[in-house]
Amino acid sequence: MSRIDLHLHTTHSDGSLRPSEVLALAKQANVTALAITDHDITTGLAEALANGAELGIEVIPGVEISSFDGKSELHILGYFIEWQDDTFNRRLAQLRASRHRRNPLIIDRLRTAGLDVTYEEVQALAGTESVGRPHIAQLLMNKRYVTSAKEAFDRYLAEGKPAYVARELPTPAEAIGWITAAKGVAVLAHPTWVKESSERLPTLLNGLKESGLGGIEVHYSTHSKRETDRYLELARRLDLLVTGGSDFHGLTKPGIAVGTGLGGLKVSPRLLDPLKTAAAKP
Ligand code: AMP
Ligand code: ZN
Ligand code: FE
Ligand code: FE
Repeated sequence: MSRIDLHLHTTHSDGSLRPSEVLALAKQANVTALAITDHDITTGLAEALANGAELGIEVIPGVEISSFDGKSELHILGYFIEWQDDTFNRRLAQLRASRHRRNPLIIDRLRTAGLDVTYEEVQALAGTESVGRPHIAQLLMNKRYVTSAKEAFDRYLAEGKPAYVARELPTPAEAIGWITAAKGVAVLAHPTWVKESSERLPTLLNGLKESGLGGIEVHYSTHSKRETDRYLELARRLDLLVTGGSDFHGLTKPGIAVGTGLGGLKVSPRLLDPLKTAAAKP
């Protein structure tokens, strides 16, 4: 049975596999269409599109932009974006610059905690302009300070931990505006991250919809059946599109597979047409 996967990371941000390697796994998993959604960067899309054409997999140009609404970090996915658009890429470059301002501050804190790490080492390991905390976690693993990325976040990098430093983030309305200006459809990623009380979720979503949000990621690796049903009901009620994806990162998030997530994920190819129709609207 064919399936799709609209949330995948590669080495162009904090994933551990190249776009062509992700596509090879997609082929094995019977994934007929996929979106590469690297954080704040579009450089992986050329390889993915070329490789998709060879393998007969439809590749949707995507991106994932982190934003902050004053309470929660909300990740906004963009689909069918004009990924070569200059203005859009300039905005993404500014987001990457904010990573490069924050990351050395994280390194300072790790050094204060007694760990022998430098930002140059992180950059060399990342090999991309979109350097994130998972790369720092990888360096801590390589240097045997921790045994997993999860331990790196739990001990040092997560919010509230000793090496946590917030990054300047756009508002959700800004992130959505950038995506729609690049003719893409904006979708709220992993709504389970929203810290608002669950009664307020419809209000929050309505506000985002007024800013141009087109859909929500109902199907996601870590969503329980109950969460999935709730988001599905909300999407129907608020007239938002339904999407889904694994958030595959390779070794950065062990256990999550392309197409199947933690094992039970199945995103229907039928979700694609409504997304395409929305993207084609002026
Ligand atoms: P950054 O964008 O550099 O702030 O890094 C955030 C990314 O780190 C997220 O998109 C997740 O992929 C990953 N991440 C965040 N929290 C954790 C955690 N507790 N354990 C593992 N990975 C995490
Ligand atoms: Zn990531
Ligand atoms: Fe995310
Ligand atoms: Fe993601």
